Amino acid sequence: MRKIELTKRQEHILQIVQDNGPITGEHIAEQLNLTRATLRPDLAILTMAGYLDARPRVGYFYTGKSGTQLLTENLKNFLVKDYQSIPVVVNENVSVYDAICTMFLEDVGTLFVVDQNTLLVGVLSRKDLLRASIGKQELTSIPVNIIMTRMPNITMCEKEDLLIDIAQKLIDKQIDALPVVRKTDKGFEVIGRVTKTNIAKAFVALGNE
Ligand code: ADP
Repeated sequence: MRKIELTKRQEHILQIVQDNGPITGEHIAEQLNLTRATLRPDLAILTMAGYLDARPRVGYFYTGKSGTQLLTENLKNFLVKDYQSIPVVVNENVSVYDAICTMFLEDVGTLFVVDQNTLLVGVLSRKDLLRASIGKQELTSIPVNIIMTRMPNITMCEKEDLLIDIAQKLIDKQIDALPVVRKTDKGFEVIGRVTKTNIAKAFVALGNE
């Protein structure tokens, strides 16, 4: 289901079905003085977009859904797993200096910190690293686990979560990203990353569909 710009003819078909539905393709074609074959692409578009529903031997009927309703329904089908990015992780013992280098080299704004078992233990944002850099400390000798936001205070998500719920979490917690995790007996494995950019991409995809 998607929001689309309807042509004059498609608007006309919608009106006919709204007034007369259920109505067969044959009868819609008659009312428009067109052949059934000419109408077929329009009917297919309107059905795929969710404006019309078709039942065999009954005909077409109007679903009563507005473009906005269809758009909202579509948005609620977006899952984390379809929009997530690859996570960038560092070990909890690496220095703040190395974490800064990783952030630049990998071109990300958030790093996830893992322990020796590659389980999630923390998050590092740009400002966490900037804050640590303001002081006079030697950045090569401070491990990131001193300055990171640590478990259990990490906001996480799973790959089957709805993207819209995750967008809400980013807003509520005022953060830029969160890790996509898989729960194991020992803790959480980091399998992905959802950022404000992923949400923006989903938003654009929705608009372009
Ligand atoms: P920045 O600090 O660069 O503005 P964020 O807004 O993402 O970036 O981070 C704000 C604070 O929240 C930082 O201290 C960071 O460690 C923490 N943080 C970031 N992401 C998460 C998360 N998913 N869960 C918990 N804390 C987080």
